[in-house]
Amino acid sequence: MDPLLWLLLPVAAASGWWAARRGPRRGAQQDLHPDYFMGLNHLLNEEADKATEVLVRLVEVDPDTVELHLALGSLFRRRGEVDRAIRVHENVVARSSLSEGRRAQAMLELGRDYARAGLFDRAEELFQGLLARGRYVDTVAAHLIELYQQEKEWLKAIELSEAVRGLNGDTGLRVAHYWCELAEEAIRHGDTASVPGWLERAQQSDPASVRVAVLRGRYHQQRGEYVQALDCYLGIESKDPLLLPPVFDAITGCYRALDREQDAAAWFRALATRQPTLLPLIPFQWREDDGAATAPRGGEAEPAVSPADLLLDVRRRRRAGTGPEELAARLESGLQRMVEEQPNYRCADCGFSSRTLFWQCPGCQRWSSMRPVAWQQENA
Ligand SMILES: [Zn+2]
Repeated sequence: MDPLLWLLLPVAAASGWWAARRGPRRGAQQDLHPDYFMGLNHLLNEEADKATEVLVRLVEVDPDTVELHLALGSLFRRRGEVDRAIRVHENVVARSSLSEGRRAQAMLELGRDYARAGLFDRAEELFQGLLARGRYVDTVAAHLIELYQQEKEWLKAIELSEAVRGLNGDTGLRVAHYWCELAEEAIRHGDTASVPGWLERAQQSDPASVRVAVLRGRYHQQRGEYVQALDCYLGIESKDPLLLPPVFDAITGCYRALDREQDAAAWFRALATRQPTLLPLIPFQWREDDGAATAPRGGEAEPAVSPADLLLDVRRRRRAGTGPEELAARLESGLQRMVEEQPNYRCADCGFSSRTLFWQCPGCQRWSSMRPVAWQQENA
């Protein structure tokens, strides 16, 4: 059920009280202000604009009703009018006559407004206040953690997640990613003293973490410790072989740095046998039939990219008398473009897809939800 509808339910009581105060009682049903039903109806029909109009009218009729203000503020926020939402909710919080429960409710809404408006410091202060009072702990913790993630305040996110552990089943997995974020940032800046410790903590939080192996590999590789780096990278196969492709280039790099190209060729060849689903993602230079990467890109125009375009293009050229050599070259380069442009990873949760692997899905913000996509599945 829409949370706003829950918010509006107490308004029914308030409206009844309002009607009773202004006229003789004529039975429970007639006590409810008719505008309330109209507002509820608009909300049920997801007509936020009309619902807002009705609520504004109700608030003018009875400026003391806290529930109406809370509902109205939330509607403003939902419509993207965050400034108005903030004004309404600040007005409620400032009332001296509020009960502790109502004040907490208004603070929660105001915190959401601030977060939505990008006023993170104010949102954090409000949310921390609510946590200290023990109000809406799980909701507030979730908001705060989201805020810390946005602000890349990983240590705060870790501390809070550990404190409210158990509210959310994926705490270990998330906390491991937070440690990894810290490690990755340090590796990027070449400031690696704390990296092994952070990765150890990540490993403890999520022993199955592939990202820890990737980062350990990168850490060793950066220090020129290629044998240890390879150990980390190749170990990913036993954790989740489908997540090997993001480190294929790194594996190639380590073998090259060790001057062991033949071992690389042998490893990729064996991998293709053990994990045939990975074959389309193995770099061209390690395929049995080398040479695709250097295939001539035929003709003057850009090769077609969609299967239908490619088919039409080749058919048109065949009718025009183009020779088999050139047709084959066009087919090959067209197919290569298709392989290069297909998304490699897709979020199992929201369907966001991309060429690169994101540990946190940019679409739905879930961690570890992106999975490799096979060419056949993509086009099924
Ligand atoms: Zn997603």
